[in-house]
Amino acid sequence: MTNFLVNVPEPQLFEAASSWLSRLALSQGISLTELMAFLHLDPRDRMHLDRDLRDARLSELRALCKLPQTVLQVHERIACSLEKLDPERLVGFLNMSESKAIFRYCPACLREMRVPHVPIHWRFIAWRWCPMHDCLMEEVCHHCGRAQHSPVDLAIADSGKSGFPWFSRCQHCSRSLGEAIPISARELSHAERYVLEQGRAFLASMFHGHYRNGGIGAISDLVNLSSHVRLKTFSQELKFLSPAWRREWMSENGRTPRNFNLF
Ligand SMILES: [Zn+2]
Ligand SMILES: [Zn+2]
Repeated sequence: MTNFLVNVPEPQLFEAASSWLSRLALSQGISLTELMAFLHLDPRDRMHLDRDLRDARLSELRALCKLPQTVLQVHERIACSLEKLDPERLVGFLNMSESKAIFRYCPACLREMRVPHVPIHWRFIAWRWCPMHDCLMEEVCHHCGRAQHSPVDLAIADSGKSGFPWFSRCQHCSRSLGEAIPISARELSHAERYVLEQGRAFLASMFHGHYRNGGIGAISDLVNLSSHVRLKTFSQELKFLSPAWRREWMSENGRTPRNFNLF
C-alpha cells in the first residue's frame, strides 16, 4: 500500500490551495470529492478550502505528497491571517457565489502563466486590480458571463470535457479567459483608484500579519484591523469596479463612468 501520492503537480508560488487541489485531483485521475475524502477532508467543506487548509492539515498534505514544507507558504500565511482577522466568520472576505468559491482573474496574467492556476489573492473580494498589468480583474467569463470556481473538478468541467482542463479556460464554455480585453485602471477616477490601492494594501497586510493605518504610523496587529471603518470596502461589492458593469455603462453612455459617490 502506498503511503504517499506520486505525479503530484508542483504548487506555484502564490497558488491558492483550492487551485492546487483541483490540479492534484486531475493529476491523480480522481474527482475532487474522492481526493478530499482520501485526505480526510470533508468534501462538503470544499468552498472553505482556502481558509481551512493550513497548519497541521496542510503539513500532513505536504508530507503525503512528498513536498517540502515551504510550498504553499503564501497561501498559508494569508489563510492564517484570515482566521485571525475574522475568527467568527462574520465578514465575507473571499469571493463566493451560491455557496461556491469563485475567483476573479486577470486575462494578461493567465496568458503569461506557464502553469495556469489561481493565486490566493484572486480569491479576495478586495483584490479588484492587477498591479502588474494595471487593469481591473475580470469577474466572469467575457464570452458566457459565468463565474469561475476554485476548487473545481477540472476533468469534468466543460473545459475539461473539451480537452482543456486548465484554469485558463472558462469552466462553462471552454473559451480562453486570456482573450478578454481588460479595462485599464488609467480610465478610473482618483477615488476609484484609491479603493483599488486599499485592496492591495489589505492583501499585503494579510501576508505580513500586521498593518499600518494609512500606510504610516505604528505597526498594528492584524486583529485590530477588524474594527477599522474602511474594512467595509474590503468585503462589499462595488459595482462601479465591475468590468462587466462598466462595459455595459460605456456602451449605453458612450463614455467612461466617472465620479460616483463611493461611500
Ligand atoms: Zn495581470
Ligand atoms: Zn465562458
